[in-house]
Amino acid sequence: MLREPKPQSAMTTTAFHHEPRTRLTDQQRAKLFLECGGMCHRCRRKLRPGDDWIDEHLIALENGGTNDLSNRGITCTWCKPHKDAEDHKKAAKSRHVATAHVVPIS
Ligand SMILES: [Zn+2]
Repeated sequence: MLREPKPQSAMTTTAFHHEPRTRLTDQQRAKLFLECGGMCHRCRRKLRPGDDWIDEHLIALENGGTNDLSNRGITCTWCKPHKDAEDHKKAAKSRHVATAHVVPIS
């Protein structure tokens, strides 16, 4: 079963503040791995025993995601830097847009 992130909440409520990060227990991580079929949510590569992977927020916290298990997926270490870069770029744009909407042009 592929896990799909929930729709992102309103940008303005998460542009500057987000839910604090929580860690999964080893049992929660094992359950997540099995529910994802051992597949990286980004590249769909099937991870083999011994491969390095992380549990990650499908929608980053800084982009309005939550710590809920429905917003978690597994990511291979090849994909992690790319996802992080995309998430940070999106968050920066959200902050820029939110700022432009409330701060008068000087
Ligand atoms: Zn991957």
